[in-house]
Amino acid sequence: MRAFDVLVIGSGAAGLTAALNLAQTKKVGVIAKGQLDEGATNWAQGGVAAVLEEGDSFDAHVNDTMIAGAGLNKLSVVEHVVSEAPAAIARLAELGVPFNIDDDGDGWHLTREGGHSHRRIVHVADATGWAIQQALEKAARDHPNITLVPDMVAIDLVTGRHAAEFTTSGEVHGLYAFNRKTGEVETITARATVLATGGAGRTYLYSTAPRGATGDGIAMAWRAGCRISNMEFMQFHPTCLYNLEVKNFLITEAVRGEGGLLRHPETGHGFMPDYDERAELAPRDIVARAIDSEIKRDGLDYVHLDISHREPEFVKVHFPNIYEKLLGLGIDITKEPIPVVPAQHYTCGGVMVDIDGRTDAPGLYAAGEVTQSGLHGANRLASNSLLECFVFGECAARHILAHWGELHDPPAIRPWDESRVTDSDEEVVIQQCWGEIRRFMWNFVGIVRTTKRLERAKHRIDLLRQEVNDYYKHFTVTPDLIELRNLVEVADLIIRSALSRHESRGLHFTLDYPDTSPEALDTVLVP
Ligand SMILES: Cc1cc2nc3c(=O)[nH]c(=O)nc-3n(C[C@H](O)[C@H](O)[C@H](O)COP(=O)(O)OP(=O)(O)OC[C@H]3O[C@@H](n4cnc5c(N)ncnc54)[C@H](O)[C@@H]3O)c2cc1C
Repeated sequence: MRAFDVLVIGSGAAGLTAALNLAQTKKVGVIAKGQLDEGATNWAQGGVAAVLEEGDSFDAHVNDTMIAGAGLNKLSVVEHVVSEAPAAIARLAELGVPFNIDDDGDGWHLTREGGHSHRRIVHVADATGWAIQQALEKAARDHPNITLVPDMVAIDLVTGRHAAEFTTSGEVHGLYAFNRKTGEVETITARATVLATGGAGRTYLYSTAPRGATGDGIAMAWRAGCRISNMEFMQFHPTCLYNLEVKNFLITEAVRGEGGLLRHPETGHGFMPDYDERAELAPRDIVARAIDSEIKRDGLDYVHLDISHREPEFVKVHFPNIYEKLLGLGIDITKEPIPVVPAQHYTCGGVMVDIDGRTDAPGLYAAGEVTQSGLHGANRLASNSLLECFVFGECAARHILAHWGELHDPPAIRPWDESRVTDSDEEVVIQQCWGEIRRFMWNFVGIVRTTKRLERAKHRIDLLRQEVNDYYKHFTVTPDLIELRNLVEVADLIIRSALSRHESRGLHFTLDYPDTSPEALDTVLVP
């Protein structure tokens, strides 16, 4: 049993930002399910968006965000996040994030990304997330009021139902978590809890997200009674390496920008002009849909991305990391094409929060990719997601501090009960279910959807859910089982959300409802 003033679940950009803002006056515990730097934050390449260029304006950033989000964004939230961005960047710089400086030496170097009408992305070369994670982690380690607890896998939020004196208040008082080091389940209590567990990319066979992105926070919040919104909006990156062992290596869009061509792997046909006059330079979603269509039509495993017609020196200089990485896997990209598939990249939906990061459950806040805050709408604008982590991490902290007196001390909580479970002798079930979910989510709930395919997926998830729940009731928990239980829950939420949207908007494209409705409405699932 451990107790903190505030418990933060997740040690990425959102969790550490919240912790640092709380720690001036509160004792904060931050848990992570593996090492502290295993979240998506560490992997972010591009950077963080903010209005910093002369001639740019908050209105322009708001407008770009709303266009990307296909009108489903919440204007007040977008305005709030955009206006907070420059100050958030300044605070990161103060913490020691070495953002690149422009050639004159008098400001940050800003890059421009798809969908942005101005140069507005601050970055640290192509490893921005790593630099941010390092700086936040160092500040958190150095803070006497922050306790960092890696290898602690959250299982479920603790609510009044788990109190020694049962209540139905719905209030969250901390959580039960599996300690990987001891193999024991611990109870961790706090007056306020902040969910910052990242996205749910690993529901899909191919995803650029880290191994731990299994939507744990979304599933835990749902089980604790919180509404979940817009889960049908999954962003896919068009080109991820197809490799049976390395499932999440991104091939940057710059390869297409520098002349890389997408070809059918059997006929060699360059198929992009068949789909869009801009061919390989069409927007991300169109390219992803075209690849998906080729793969589905001909039952392919992948398509080819070919840059071997360019000078070998050019390829090596422009794409040194990709060249080295693929050479190690036996592919010389100066001589042969790269097998690629689109891959899940970002979870736009999640736990519903208000502008202060409050969820539906009293005492529970959430920030970052685990949430649906209203910022992204039906599609995320590049480099707005790290920004969301900083702004909402801080807003949640501010609200907790301002309302400390209204939050309650946790009551006595019943310890985790393992008296009716035994050790599993069928671990194979977990691997089997895990693989099955990720494969049918990929095939039936991917980039281009139909009602029939979604119904097939729903049928399968109902069966699996029964099996997994049954397994969960009978066997001792393990990290794999905890993740599988959440994966089933989140896959079900995605399928149900997709089935309930009778239009195509942003990232949700269905052949049965190809038009966009005049009214933009969130999908809201109520537990
Ligand atoms: C390859 C890649 C490139 C990207 N590039 C950019 C970019 O350039 N710009 C941008 O804005 N965004 C980018 N993104 C998106 C961005 O990185 C993420 O949206 C953001 O980092 C999410 O931060 P977070 O704090 O919400 O979660 P994460 O950084 O994912 O952290 C999640 C934390 O929760 C913990 N956790 C999860 N489940 C549990 C559990 N059950 N128990 C305990 N702890 C748990 C994890 O251990 C981890 O510490 C990119 C994403 C990827 C995958």
